[in-house]
Amino acid sequence: DPDRPIIDEVEKEVEEWATYQEDQLDEYERFAEYRRRYIGDISHELKTPIFNIQGYLHTILDDEDVLDDRKFTLKFLRKAAKNVERLQTIVDDLSAISRLESGELVLDIETFNIRTLATEVFEELDLKSHEAGVNLSFKPGADGGFMVRADRESIRQVLINLITNSIKYGNVGGNTRIGLYDMATYILCEVADDGIGIPEKHLPHVFDRFYRVDKSRSRQKGGSGLGLSIVKHIMEAHQQTINVRSSPGMGSTFGITLAKA
Ligand code: ADP
Repeated sequence: DPDRPIIDEVEKEVEEWATYQEDQLDEYERFAEYRRRYIGDISHELKTPIFNIQGYLHTILDDEDVLDDRKFTLKFLRKAAKNVERLQTIVDDLSAISRLESGELVLDIETFNIRTLATEVFEELDLKSHEAGVNLSFKPGADGGFMVRADRESIRQVLINLITNSIKYGNVGGNTRIGLYDMATYILCEVADDGIGIPEKHLPHVFDRFYRVDKSRSRQKGGSGLGLSIVKHIMEAHQQTINVRSSPGMGSTFGITLAKA
């Protein structure tokens, strides 16, 4: 049959087309599932502060005695305000992630001194760490040699998130050390604490959105559960890495790499 090769060819193409369609459908299903989970996670996160705000406001509004008691009223209003702040943090962090994921945030790569930036962030967070009873120390490395190419504002955000975490999950009287190391082909910037640490089985997940080792501690410290996810997105956008070493009770060390200028 002289037509056979052509029929074979057509059949093969039809088969390939069907496989392609199936793959597309699988991908669509996966995406739909991802989106469902994403929306589910977000609404779950928003529920707690909203529920708290409602509770505090109703305590005041539903009981004239409470309303007449200025001290009580103030106490509940402050608690409500704290939860509004948490909502604000979550929404801000979510919009940061959405900008990063959509590629809307175009990195503004420039050459700058990471020592200078680290010092700035360090000074910015000094008061906060002081209040939490954590000592910040800075090991800036040798003079010079710390020029990197990166988006300065994003890296500032990364440092803020990492140092804030080391304060949140540090012990009173504990230490956070920022170290800079010239690794010949790149600069390593480490934020190390001697705080509560992270159990090994949780380590692979800490960069996932809304993942927390200890939910109540994170919430109590005003965490959105998105800080490390933002850090990871920013480092990926730079095609650089973030690593963590940690053990419970001993502390955690987060390290980012930066391209040398
Ligand atoms: P959160 O807002 O909860 O701090 P993150 O995304 O910044 O969210 O961190 C995710 C989780 O990783 C935290 O809830 C905490 O359990 C853990 N974690 C992050 N940084 C540290 C650290 N320096 N020490 C101990 N645990 C940490």
